[in-house]
Amino acid sequence: MICVLSGGTGGAKFVDGLRQVMPAEDITIIVNTGDDLLWWGLYVSPDLDSITYVLSGMLSRERGWGVKGDTFLCLQAMGQLGEPTWFHTGDRDLAVHLLRSRLLAEGKTLSEATAVICGKLGVKARILPMSNSRVETRVDTPAGELSFEEYFVQRWYQDPVNSVRFAGASDAEPAPGVLDAISSADAVLIAPSNPVTSIEPILAVPGIHQALLSARGKIAAVSPIVGNAPVAGPAGILMAAQGLPCSIAGVAKAYEDFLDVLICDTRDARAADALRRGGLRVQCAQTVMRSAEDKAALAREVLSLVAGNLLKEQPESNTAFRRLSPP
Ligand code: GDP
Repeated sequence: MICVLSGGTGGAKFVDGLRQVMPAEDITIIVNTGDDLLWWGLYVSPDLDSITYVLSGMLSRERGWGVKGDTFLCLQAMGQLGEPTWFHTGDRDLAVHLLRSRLLAEGKTLSEATAVICGKLGVKARILPMSNSRVETRVDTPAGELSFEEYFVQRWYQDPVNSVRFAGASDAEPAPGVLDAISSADAVLIAPSNPVTSIEPILAVPGIHQALLSARGKIAAVSPIVGNAPVAGPAGILMAAQGLPCSIAGVAKAYEDFLDVLICDTRDARAADALRRGGLRVQCAQTVMRSAEDKAALAREVLSLVAGNLLKEQPESNTAFRRLSPP
């Protein structure tokens, strides 16, 4: 069994690679829920959605979020009604938000709702929210404290960032199965996700950091930073706000307590040498994932370092999308 800690974008690309080279049934993904928001009264969990969509063959790979081929008629109609439209939800995407919101309103937990949705969409891997308690990533800026989606999507991450905190984390509990997935995994993989707003919220849930410290499997992280810049998005600004350099050294520092192997890009070979001299195991690879082949190659490389016995090429599956399509 492999356990992956993940956000939504770099994380989904990495998971897309893993599912090509090993059985999805052997993958558990612990997903950040610090970005979750109430949108038009619905409970939206952007990272859970991206991971669910990639594993059901529904993800729009062009956009990196939402359902491929989706339409945006409801968004248009809400705009005509004077409702906010800065957070883009497609019509098929909305169906998932509606179902999740109904399940939560009926008293199901977020993990139970996630399991129902995954079951209906034919997801074979196990997707676990980091917690069933509400943990909210809050970004402190000169314009005030913002939710992650306000900072990232509404305001295009243009605000300077003073600090980031995870409201509710100290009172949260890991969702059922999370600690066990970490401790029983043959290897724990930290996706090339934003270390501050995707992985730190997971680590902030009491018990998870400790479980990583005592995990029996090796722990490997793929750097989302290549050559002193994130492949995409605001990770550099956010890392600086948390006192971490925007480099593979900053990624190594974020995970230093429990990391066994860091996988960084071949372009960072010199910085990798410096980290090796400090005692960390570092492997250089082609980490920028543009095609399905890139994703599979990176997944293969990472698995061969920590759990080569699980490698097994998988056929492409795209059944859930066909099931959701109109007849
Ligand atoms: P979020 O929830 O949308 O923020 O998604 P993640 O945290 O999972 O992913 C965001 C991070 O993915 C950014 O910091 C990017 O630098 C990183 N990223 C995106 N694409 C790639 C890629 O192809 N390779 C690597 N190494 N990192 C990537």
